[in-house]
Amino acid sequence: MPTYDFKCIECGFMFSKFVSIKERENIRCPECKGKVKQRFTSLNFIGCDSSCSCSGSNCNNCSGCH
Ligand SMILES: [Zn+2]
Repeated sequence: MPTYDFKCIECGFMFSKFVSIKERENIRCPECKGKVKQRFTSLNFIGCDSSCSCSGSNCNNCSGCH
């Protein structure tokens, strides 16, 4: 199960949680029970710069971005 990062829309509280895709829809802020939005961050993933024209989603080996 992947870890998702969330941020509360109401109070700005940020947290990470192991959840299934189905459960993800029902996550609430542990601080204020407000709605949260998902943040797309990962420690091991380096996303391609939007200006890079390479086809990969991982730019570890891409000379165009670095
Ligand atoms: Zn909150």
